[in-house]
Amino acid sequence: MHKIMILPGDGIGPEVTAVARRVLETLASGGELELSIEEGDIGGVSIDTHGVPLTDAVVERAREADAVLLGAVGGPKWDTLERDRRPERGLLRIRTELGLFSNLRPAILFPQLADASSLRAELVAGLDILIVRELTGGIYFGRPRGIDAGEDGHRRGYNTLIYSEPEIRRIARSAFEVAMRRGRKVTSVDKANVLESSELWREVVTDTAREYPEVELSHMYVDNAAMQLIRAPKQFDVIVTGNMFGDILSDAAAMLTGSIGMLPSASLNESARGLFEPIHGSAPDIAGRNVANPLASVLSVSMMLRYTLGRADLAERVDRAVSTVLDLGLRTADIAAPGEASVGTTEMGEQIVACLATSG
Ligand code: NAD
Repeated sequence: MHKIMILPGDGIGPEVTAVARRVLETLASGGELELSIEEGDIGGVSIDTHGVPLTDAVVERAREADAVLLGAVGGPKWDTLERDRRPERGLLRIRTELGLFSNLRPAILFPQLADASSLRAELVAGLDILIVRELTGGIYFGRPRGIDAGEDGHRRGYNTLIYSEPEIRRIARSAFEVAMRRGRKVTSVDKANVLESSELWREVVTDTAREYPEVELSHMYVDNAAMQLIRAPKQFDVIVTGNMFGDILSDAAAMLTGSIGMLPSASLNESARGLFEPIHGSAPDIAGRNVANPLASVLSVSMMLRYTLGRADLAERVDRAVSTVLDLGLRTADIAAPGEASVGTTEMGEQIVACLATSG
């Protein structure tokens, strides 16, 4: 029995997670998966109901769950609150509380949508890369940090890029583990020609690779990786990198696909439990209108099945269902070509569920 906690959140969060929930329930009703699902509040809805963006009770229940599925948080209603009380704090807190150090950001482009990319269709059609970004260390957290008066009368700002050997080893292992479930190729991205922290990064990743003889490891400097992502992105399978490089490269890779409504993500902890969520936000501009694309949330369920629940077979079924509805020509407004007819969130959900129900 797998315990799943759903945190729909704000804006389009509840609309897209309702579809994702039906996907999970359809798999469960086919008898292939035993699930218990519960829901909780996070973000603005939690502020309105409980006065805080995330309650201790929800944190406790999320800790007990095998996986958490999140919608999105935030919206203009809460934008004027003090920083510490805003919806986004709930998200930061749950990531910290669950110890989520490994952030998996796929850039997948279904061939049916190749025209949505800003790159030529033949460069990106069928793109399927996964960026594994270290999420809790590196320059965003290193100390010392600050802005001070400086020694020469000029103020100076500084941060520290620091990675310990265990931090590097665990993110490397996380990347090799996910590569074993995919194309078995890992590219480690660093700046070892300039940075000592990268020198250690490269050494430890190379050493960790010995535990995974089936995986092919290569190294690439971050400037070259940025270039290669734009030049020939299909050369990559899994990219593993530190917090800041991963932040930048994963956004660039996501945009190769041209459709924010299609991209899921996962954040895992040391026991491979995790939080799964679309990369998009709460989209207040379209919330409540039944036009949001639910596929990023559905594909987040696929990542949950693959990386936490150990059910690659069911993950493939979900991926196939998404591909089938695209083959059928179904498009939500965000992925429809100009002038092309579109379907709403619930109709897209119904079609996915229908495909799943018949594909067992
Ligand atoms: P956004 O991702 O919510 O929206 C950007 C644009 O993409 C909008 O035009 C929106 O309509 C469109 N879009 C997003 N998801 C879509 C979907 N599934 N289907 C169709 N169109 C979609 O980013 P934003 O507008 O910068 O932020 C809105 C709010 O979301 C803010 O409060 C922000 O803080 C929050 N946010 C939350 C998360 C999160 O919860 N993880 C991430 C980013 C932003």
